[in-house]
Amino acid sequence: MGIIPERKPFIQPLKRAWYGGRVQDVSMLRLDVIHPIVSGNKWYKLKENILYCLRNGYDTILTFGGGYSNHLVATAKAAQYYGLNAVGIVRGDYRDNPTPTLRNCKNYGMIIKYVSYDEYKKKDDESWQKELSNEYSCAFIIPEGGDNDLGRKGAEEIANYIPEEFTHVCVSVGSGTIYAGVLKYMDKEVRGYAPMKGGAYLKNEIVHIEDLSGKKINITDAWHFGGFGKHTDELIYFMNDFHEINNIPLDVVYTSKMMYGVREQIKKGFFPEDAKILCIHTGGLQGNSTLRDRLSY
Ligand SMILES: *Cc1c(COP(=O)(O)O)cnc(C)c1O
Repeated sequence: MGIIPERKPFIQPLKRAWYGGRVQDVSMLRLDVIHPIVSGNKWYKLKENILYCLRNGYDTILTFGGGYSNHLVATAKAAQYYGLNAVGIVRGDYRDNPTPTLRNCKNYGMIIKYVSYDEYKKKDDESWQKELSNEYSCAFIIPEGGDNDLGRKGAEEIANYIPEEFTHVCVSVGSGTIYAGVLKYMDKEVRGYAPMKGGAYLKNEIVHIEDLSGKKINITDAWHFGGFGKHTDELIYFMNDFHEINNIPLDVVYTSKMMYGVREQIKKGFFPEDAKILCIHTGGLQGNSTLRDRLSY
């Protein structure tokens, strides 16, 4: 049985040639390196959930996700590592045409149950969760994305990796769990980059996740490139260029859009000149598998 993380996260400075001048420096916190599948923030959200199951005698984890979900495949792999059964409730019917993500889930031993988009909407209903848990040997339920109290503890661990010297922290935002957690534990400006149209509405949701009173919430959705899971040729070009200069692979769903936005904001003078910026690489590289022939890495 292996142990996650396989590799410790580290901080890597970005090349000045990539971002130009205008700020003091820009670095990345490489949470993507800890494991090829159970990577980035998803591991930190899963960790306490898995420990809880092991300590409390649960042998099965059940969770929810779409066909390309980083969380689903991370759960499948982590459960396999720690000797737990995993069940994935998947939105949509991919039985005849599973995505690479779902194929991996199955390879790691996850049992997949496909449900309609309508049924999936009940994912947070307690009664449906109870029914599902009973169906699969009293499984421990983890909500979509790993966004429960145990998952939120993971954000605290991520915050601990951020040294004092940095003035600004940048992170991609999906549900906002990691954003809210990092902001809670930081006395720095934390900027969130939502990769979906209208994602800035999360500003209103995040205040309910954690007590953030008195903190400045800064979330933009200006760089969504057509919406969640969508991309343009320009974004692919950007990812290849970023990798060539900095030798860091970005994922197409989250971190590439964030880094594009960070560079635009630097160019436009949206950071002070003495800013020392730390961007969190939240992983998600498994999601690039459908683009393999277009990426140089
Ligand atoms: C899930 C995910 C996010 C979003 O995290 P939240 O805590 O839901 O906001 C960001 N980046 C990557 C790579 C992810 O897989």
